Amino acid sequence: MNRVRVILLNAALGPLDYKVPKGMRVEPGSIVLAPLGPRQVTGVAWDPDRLPAEEVEDKRLRPLLHVYEVPPLGEPLRRLIEWTADYYLAPVAAVLRMALASASALDGARTVTEYRSTGFVPERLTAQRAQALERIAGRQGLVRELALAAGVSDGVIRGLCKAGAIEAVEVAVDDPFPEPDPDHAPPALEAAQAEAAEQFVAAVRAGEFAPYLLDGVTGSGKTEVYFEAVAEAARRGRQCLVLLPEIALTEPFLKRFSARFGCEPVAWHSGLRQSQRRRAWRSISTGDARVVVGARSALFLPYRRLGLIVVDEAHEASFKQEEGVQYHARDVAVMRAKMEEVPVILASATPAIETRHMAEIGVYREVRLSERFGAAELPEIAAVNLIEEPPPRGRWLAPSLLRELEANLEAGEQSLLFLNRRGYAPLTLCRHCGHRFQCPNCTAWMVEHRLVSRLACHHCGHVMPPPRACPQCDEEDSLVPCGPGVERIADEVHALLPAARTAIVTSDTIWSPAKAAEFVGRMEAQEIDIVIGTQLVTKGYHFPNLTLVGVVDADLGLSGGDLRAAERTFQQIMQVSGRAGRGDKPGRVLVQTHEPSAPVIDALVRGDAEGFYAAETDARREAAMPPFGRLAGIIVSSEDLGQATETARAIGRSAPRVENMAVFGPAPAPLAMLRGRHRLRLLVHAARSLDVQDVIRDWLGGLDWPRGVRVAVDVDPYSFL
Ligand code: ADP
Ligand code: ZN
Repeated sequence: MNRVRVILLNAALGPLDYKVPKGMRVEPGSIVLAPLGPRQVTGVAWDPDRLPAEEVEDKRLRPLLHVYEVPPLGEPLRRLIEWTADYYLAPVAAVLRMALASASALDGARTVTEYRSTGFVPERLTAQRAQALERIAGRQGLVRELALAAGVSDGVIRGLCKAGAIEAVEVAVDDPFPEPDPDHAPPALEAAQAEAAEQFVAAVRAGEFAPYLLDGVTGSGKTEVYFEAVAEAARRGRQCLVLLPEIALTEPFLKRFSARFGCEPVAWHSGLRQSQRRRAWRSISTGDARVVVGARSALFLPYRRLGLIVVDEAHEASFKQEEGVQYHARDVAVMRAKMEEVPVILASATPAIETRHMAEIGVYREVRLSERFGAAELPEIAAVNLIEEPPPRGRWLAPSLLRELEANLEAGEQSLLFLNRRGYAPLTLCRHCGHRFQCPNCTAWMVEHRLVSRLACHHCGHVMPPPRACPQCDEEDSLVPCGPGVERIADEVHALLPAARTAIVTSDTIWSPAKAAEFVGRMEAQEIDIVIGTQLVTKGYHFPNLTLVGVVDADLGLSGGDLRAAERTFQQIMQVSGRAGRGDKPGRVLVQTHEPSAPVIDALVRGDAEGFYAAETDARREAAMPPFGRLAGIIVSSEDLGQATETARAIGRSAPRVENMAVFGPAPAPLAMLRGRHRLRLLVHAARSLDVQDVIRDWLGGLDWPRGVRVAVDVDPYSFL
C-alpha cells in the first residue's frame, strides 16, 4: 500500500494522508492535487513522519488525483517551511502558500500554436499562395503574423495549411530569461572593496553556510562588492537571491544590475502580472532564473540551485511582515542559507543592534567598508535648534535651513527635505467647534491629501472628500490643517523659494517601478532642485549633485517611545544623510530638533555611531530586551469589544507560571481599533534561553475563544501598535 502525507493549502487543516494510485510517482516535495470532501485542493507531499497526521486506516484513504509536472520542493525548502511555521507559530500550510505563490505556474508548460512552411509545394498554386509561400520561407509565427509578412489574408495561410504546405508547431510561451554575464562590465575595485569582495567570492566557492554582515558606510560601494559574489555564483551556475526592502528600490537596482551584468535580473514582487509571476516561478523552480531580486516574499520560492543570498538594507523594518505569517525576512534569510548550505550577506550602513550583536559574538563574520568610494566624503551633520531659532507661525523650515536651501539653489545643486509624513497635514480640525476628523474604522486621524483633495486613513485606506462645512457644527470653511506633511512643506518651499522646481516623493507619488524610474530620470536631468520626501527617499538612490539634506522634524520618530525608537531615528537620519555628497561635491545635513541634547541627535552631530550603538546595546542588555531577551506580542481582536476584552482577559488569567518569563497586559492596543476591529495586546517577555514559542503554543492551544475573535502571535515584534 502506497500512502503519502500531504500538506494541503488550507491553513485550517493539518497534514492528511492519501493513497498514491498505481502508476503515479510521488516523492517528498511533489506538488499534488488531492480530493477534500467534494473539492480538489493543491498540496505538497511531505516527508513521512516529520509532521503528525490523524490515524486513518489504509482502506479509508482517498487517492491523489494528480501530480503537477513541476520539480518537487527541495528538502532545504521543506525544512525551512517547517522551521518558519514552528518559530513564528503559524500553520505550515500558510507558510507553504508563500512557496507556491503562483497557481498558474503549476499547469503544464503553456504553449501557443505557430505555423511555418513544410517545404512541400503543391501543384497549381494561385498567385497569392505562391507569393505567400515565397515570403514566409524560413519564418514562423501566428497565422496573423505570417499573413502580415506575406501581404495576404489569413484565409490564404489557412488554405496553404490544409494543402500541406504549412504546418502547425507548438511553442512554449515561458521564454527563458537572459543569463547575466558575470564578466560583462566588472568595476575596478578599490583596495578595501577588493578585499571584501574576495572574502565573499571565496565563500561562494566554498559553498557552505556562512553568514556575513557587510557593514559599510553609505556610498562605500556595498552593492559593487556583493555583485562580485553574485558574479561568482553565476559563473558556477548557481542561483542568487537579492532581497530589497521595497519595490520602489527595484528600479534603480535593475538599472545598475544591467550595467554590471548586461541584462536585467528576474524581478519578484507584488506588482507582477500573473503571466510574469508564472514565468518567474517556473524558471526559479527549474534553476534557469539565475539572479532573482525581490521583496521579502521571494524568500520562500523554490530555488533549485541556490548559491547565495543577499539582504540589502538589512536593517529595514519593512523586512518584517506584519500580516498573515508574521516573519522577519532578514532572519528567515539566514535560516534559509543555513538549510541550503550557502553564504548569506546582510548589507547595511546602519545594521540593527540584533545584527551587530551577532557579529560581536562571532556568529556573523563582519566585513567593513569604512570610507566612501572615490573622492566622496561623508557629509557633516549639524543640528538646528528649533527653540532658539523657531520658524515663523504656520511654517516649519527654520531660517538657517532656508538660507542653505537658497544658497544651494543658486549654486545649481540639488537638495532633499525629509519628513516622514505623507499628505498635507496629519490632522484636520474645525476652528469653530474643535471637531477633529477621525477614521470611523480606526483609532487614527484622517490625513489631508491636498493634491488629490481627500481625507484618508493611513491604516485602513478609508477616504472621504474634505467637507465644505464642519459635520459637527455646520460652520462653513472652518476646517484647518494641523501640523505638516510633505505636501505642506512643498507649499512652504514654493512660497519662499518660488524659483525652485520641486518633487514630492512618497508612496502616493512613487507607486510603481515606472514612477520611480521617471523620478530618477528627472533628478539625473537636473529638472528637480528640491525633493521633499518620506522614508522612501532615504535609501538606495545615488544622485551625485545632491549636496544638502534637511531633516524637517528629527523628534518625530522619538515620540512613539518604543524599544527601537532611538535606533530607528539614528538609522533614518544616517540613511537620509547618506544621500548627500555622493559625488565629488561635499554634502551637508541640517537636522531640525527641539532637543539637540538628546543622545541620538548628539551622537549624529558628533559622528559617534559607535558610542550610540554601545549605549543602546548596554540599555538593552540591562533591561534584558532583544537580542538579550525575547519578546512576543499577543494581539486579540474582534468587532465586538466585549468579546475581545473577555478573550484577552482569559488569556491573561491562564498565563502559565514559568521561570524567566513575565506576561504584561492585556491592555488596549495603542491602535485600539483597526479596520473596525477592537484590539487588545499582551506582551510576553522572556529570557533568551527559554523556548517561548513552546510555552505559548501550549498556553494558547489549551484555550478556546468565540468565532469572530482573532488571536495573533507576533514573535520578535517590531510594531507595538
Ligand atoms: P552603497 O551601497 O555602499 O551606498 P554603492 O554601491 O551604491 O554604495 O556605491 C556608491 C556609488 O559609487 C555608486 O554609484 C557606485 O556605482 C560607485 N562605485 C562604488 N565602487 C565603485 C568602483 N569600484 N568603481 C566604480 N564605481 C564605484
Ligand atoms: Zn482607518
